[in-house]
Amino acid sequence: MEEIVLKGIAAAPGIASGSSFILDKQDFVVAPRVIMETEIPIEIARFEEALIKTKEEILEIQKNISKDLGGQHAQIFDAHLLVLEDRSLTDEVIKRIRDEKLSAEYIFSEVLKKYVKIFSNIEDEYLKERVSDVSDIGRRVLKNLMDESKLHDFDNLTEELIIISHDLSPSDTASMYNQNIIAFATDVGGKTSHTAIMAKSLGVPAVVGLKDATLKIRNQDFVIIDGRKGLVLINPTKETKAIYKDAQFRIVEFQDQFKEIKDLPCETSDGHKVKILANLELPEEIPTIIKHGANGIGLYRTEYFYMNRVDLPSEEEQFKAYKQVAEQIAPNPVTIRSLDLGGDKFISSLQIPRDMYPFLGWRAIRFCLARPDIFKTQLRAVLRASAFGKVRLMYPMITGLGDLRAANDILKEVKQNLKDENITFDEKMPVGIMIEVPSAAMTADLLAKEVDFFSIGTNDLIQYTLAVDRVNIKTADLYEPGHPGVLRLIKRTIDAAHAEKISVGLCGEMCSEPVLALILLGLELDDFSMSPLSILQIKQMIRSVNFKDAKKLATEALSLSTGQEVENFSRMKLNELAPAFLNEENSKE
Ligand code: PEP
Ligand code: MG
Repeated sequence: MEEIVLKGIAAAPGIASGSSFILDKQDFVVAPRVIMETEIPIEIARFEEALIKTKEEILEIQKNISKDLGGQHAQIFDAHLLVLEDRSLTDEVIKRIRDEKLSAEYIFSEVLKKYVKIFSNIEDEYLKERVSDVSDIGRRVLKNLMDESKLHDFDNLTEELIIISHDLSPSDTASMYNQNIIAFATDVGGKTSHTAIMAKSLGVPAVVGLKDATLKIRNQDFVIIDGRKGLVLINPTKETKAIYKDAQFRIVEFQDQFKEIKDLPCETSDGHKVKILANLELPEEIPTIIKHGANGIGLYRTEYFYMNRVDLPSEEEQFKAYKQVAEQIAPNPVTIRSLDLGGDKFISSLQIPRDMYPFLGWRAIRFCLARPDIFKTQLRAVLRASAFGKVRLMYPMITGLGDLRAANDILKEVKQNLKDENITFDEKMPVGIMIEVPSAAMTADLLAKEVDFFSIGTNDLIQYTLAVDRVNIKTADLYEPGHPGVLRLIKRTIDAAHAEKISVGLCGEMCSEPVLALILLGLELDDFSMSPLSILQIKQMIRSVNFKDAKKLATEALSLSTGQEVENFSRMKLNELAPAFLNEENSKE
C-alpha cells in the first residue's frame, strides 16, 4: 500500500501511531446506560416524545421547503416520515428497553445501526439510498432524546484509536478525557480553536485543518500523527515507521532534560523574576499542573463545566468543584474565569440557537450580563470557594469600562447577599479582566484603574485585531501573533498595567511558543499562563536568557514591519541566546 502524507496545522505536539477510527456525523456512538425497573415507562415515554417531536420538526421543514421550492422537493422527507412511522422499528425499540433495561437512546441507536446495516447490504439501488434517510432520521431522534453533545460518547471505545473527523466540537474533545484515544486529526479547525487547546490538555497529539482527511483515510488504516509538524502519514513504510519511532524517543529525551528545573524559580540569568502559570480546562489536569511546577492557575476555563450535560450546573456543584481546585493548588492562586460561552464553545442545555453567539456576537460577559440568573449562580459559587484558597475572579471579553462596571455591580450585589446570609468569602478576592478585544487594549489605562489584574487573551485579541477567524482554515496563514498591530496592543496593555501597579499576564497559546514568549518576556510581561505540558520548556527558555537581551530584542521587534519579520528576527535571536530551543522537536517547517 502506498504511503500518503497529508499536511495540516500542528495543533498539539507529540507523535502517535495506530489504527484510525473515522468518526463522521452518521456515527452513533452512544454509551449504554442501565436503567431501573421503575424507569422503564419513563424511558419509553421519552422515546415516544422524541418520535413525536422529530415528526413535528420534519413536517415543519416540509412546509418551509414546499413554500420555498415547491411540493416536489418536500416529498424527499416523506421517506423520513415513513421511517418514523415504521411500527416494526419502534416496537423493537420499546420491547428491547423493557427486556434489556437500557436507556432509550442506547437501544434506539443499536436498532438503528442494525437497520443501516440491513439497508446497506441490499442489492437494490433504491433501497440502498434509504440508508442516508435512516441515518438522518436517527440523528434527529437521538438529538431529541439526549444532549446533542453526547452524540459522540467515547466511553464505549475499548481499543486505542486515532480519531479522524471532519470536525470535533470542544465538548466532543472534552469527553475524550481518559479514553483510549491517543491522537486525533480533523478536516477543519485552527491552531487556537478550543478543540486544539483541549487536545493539549488531554496531552494527545493533534493535527487540524487537514481539509479532506476524512476522505483520504479509511477506518482502520495505520496512521502516524505528527503533532509537531502538522502531518498525518497514512500507511507509512517500514522506513518511515522507524524514523518516527526514533523521533518519539528523542521527544521524550528532549522533555526529560527539563525535569530538574521544576522547583527552581522562573527567573532570567540576571535575576528578573516572572510567574509561570497553567491553563486549566478540566480538574483532572491538576496533578499534571502540580507535577510541572506551575506557580498557580492563570486561567480556569469554567465553560467546560457547563458542557456535555442536559442541565446547568447548580451553585453547590460549582462551589464544590472550584473549592476543590482552590484547595489542591493552594497556596498558589487559581484564576477562575467566569463563563465564556460562545464562539466555538456551545452549551446545549441553554437551548439557544448557535447563530446567536458567534465570535462577534452575544457571547462571554455579554451573555452573563443578559442572564444574571446564570451569572449570579456562578459568582456565588466562586465567592464561596474563595474562602478555601487563593481565588481570583476574571471576566472574559470586556470591551471597556461599561461592561466591567456592569459586571462589578452584579458582583457587589452577590457579595451583599452572601453577607446577609452569613456566608464567608474572601472580601479581598482579586478581580481582573481578560484583555482580548482591541478596544480593551486601547483603553487599558482606564481599565487598569478599576481592576486588580489583567490577563491578555491573545487567542481572541489576534482574531479581533487582524479580522481573522481563529477557527477558519482558509485564513490560518493570516493569523499572526507577531503582527506589529498585535504587539503594539500587547505593549500598550502591559505598560498601562504597570503604570497602575497591577500585574499583567497572558494566557493565549502564543505564550507557549518559545520564539514568541521571548518577545513577551522582553515586553515585561509578569505572568505566563499556558498548557501545563509547555511549562518546563518555557521556564527553561526564560532561565537561559538575560532580561536585558530580551528587552533589547522586544524593542527591536517592535520596530519591524510585518509579523513574519518579527518571528524570523526573534527566532534568530533565540538561536543565539538559547540554541537548545530550536532543535528539531520545536522548529517550524
Ligand atoms: C484567549 O482568548 O486568548 C483565551 C485565553 O481565551 P479562550 O482561548 O478561551 O478564548
Ligand atoms: Mg478568549
